[in-house]
Amino acid sequence: MAKMVARLEDKERRRRPSDQELMDRAGELSAKYLGGRARPSSVRWSANQGRRWGSCTLLDGSIRISTRLQGMPSWVLDYVLLHELAHLLHAGHGPEFWKILEVYPRTDRARGFLEGASFTQDDNGQATPDDEED
Ligand SMILES: [Zn+2]
Repeated sequence: MAKMVARLEDKERRRRPSDQELMDRAGELSAKYLGGRARPSSVRWSANQGRRWGSCTLLDGSIRISTRLQGMPSWVLDYVLLHELAHLLHAGHGPEFWKILEVYPRTDRARGFLEGASFTQDDNGQATPDDEED
């Protein structure tokens, strides 16, 4: 619980992490929620993700996170990082994939937050996929 409070206090500082901090955060999340099994080769910000929040390339294990997430709460960014990390373990969005993400307590809340953000940012207000399968 103390750790949780400390993380909340860290929130402002964490809002615009560098590529290196993003990579470090991905490592922490993988260790905490995925038993360290997801090991991305690189994690970096990307300004050309289109409507996606993040994407990963299974071939080389690289993860890209949309710069549209900068300024959003850290628990939302954590969710997107975890989502892409989980794809390194399981491609696609089947039940097995979502089972991996059940360990993150804010998955549903983060997905709702991102749907709302998509609604605000997109012209047509349609819910958009968090990523594409590649
Ligand atoms: Zn996905």
